Amino acid sequence: MSTVSARINAGAVVQAPAVSRQPFLELRGLSKSFGSAHAIDAVDLSLAQGEFFSILGPSGCGKTTTLRLIAGFERPRSGRILLEGRDITDQPPEKRPINTVFQSYALFAHLDVAENVAFGLREDGVPKKERLERVNEALSLVRLEELASRRPNELSGGQQQRVALARAVVKRPRILLLDEPLGALDLQLRKTMQIELKALQERLGMTFVYVTHDQEEALTMSDRIAVMRGGRVCQLGSPEDIYDRPTTRYVADFIGASNCLPVTVAHGTREYSTANGIRGPLPDIPYLPQGERAYLVIRPECCHLEPAAGTGLLGRVTEVLFKGMYRSYHVRIEDGTTFTVADPHRPSESRPWTVGDQVRVSWPVNESWLATD
Ligand code: ATP
Repeated sequence: MSTVSARINAGAVVQAPAVSRQPFLELRGLSKSFGSAHAIDAVDLSLAQGEFFSILGPSGCGKTTTLRLIAGFERPRSGRILLEGRDITDQPPEKRPINTVFQSYALFAHLDVAENVAFGLREDGVPKKERLERVNEALSLVRLEELASRRPNELSGGQQQRVALARAVVKRPRILLLDEPLGALDLQLRKTMQIELKALQERLGMTFVYVTHDQEEALTMSDRIAVMRGGRVCQLGSPEDIYDRPTTRYVADFIGASNCLPVTVAHGTREYSTANGIRGPLPDIPYLPQGERAYLVIRPECCHLEPAAGTGLLGRVTEVLFKGMYRSYHVRIEDGTTFTVADPHRPSESRPWTVGDQVRVSWPVNESWLATD
């Protein structure tokens, strides 16, 4: 977890509080079906207080259902939800110290920014003086004090989303659930808001559970990520764990670009072999699925191209794509697998390889990883 990070604040170095390792929110064997379809199946998760936790996966894998169960908008078929050891499974949503921010901001058009933020406090009967203080505090957290008297239609998409965030945090929930909250924003604004959201979460020290199908977003903001597939959590770990050590080809493909070479692990060796007899060394990893079908996973940025006389897998360049920061070379190797090799771009260096060139693809052996199907 990247939580004991030093931050610069108003010229002083501030040590952010460490995330507690005690279970804060626990999902135990949580399942939910709609008719005969299993939306989520036996999900076990344990979150720490103050953690930025993301649930990542493609459409329909059960992310929103998991979030709605935590919020109390859905009842599980089986399983329990515990908050600080207390069972909240049967508590209605309004009794849970949990708030949700959705992709659609659903702001009240006839109320100004401050009134929108104050709405929930007014409903709860919070006295006026305290309401004003808390609204000002929330607006300052999302840097909207100057726009307090504007109506939603006088705000940009990013500003509207910040109002929705202020409205959610003003009630001081223990947990903030965020369901694709940046989905409606353009790419540039989304990137800015990712940084703002992470900074806000650190300032508040609040537990965030963030649902997204955008792997880069999850990698950028999260302390830990749960990758879901077909209603189950298929890998859980830090962004580095998930990116560098994917346990399955599914995770390797879903999180960033990857080269997945189909291999068999030779019995009693640290060698792989491919169907057409290519052999090579395996990385130093704890579990080798011997004799089983597996995939050697190598990220494009870990691969290098060398002349055909060098070492590595022999192949032919089939495509060269200029991506700005790097050039992407597609190389078809002897067993038919296409490798993608990302070569950092430097304007002073000429483009070394062109389509049709015979090359060798190599990588440092400990920058490869073995994943199962
Ligand atoms: P997306 O990224 O598209 O929002 P998701 O990962 O959040 O997808 P869920 O919305 O949790 O997925 O849906 C999981 C599964 O449950 C899907 O197959 C979906 O069709 C089904 N499902 C979700 N809500 C309902 C519902 N109210 N009635 C019937 N089926 C539902």
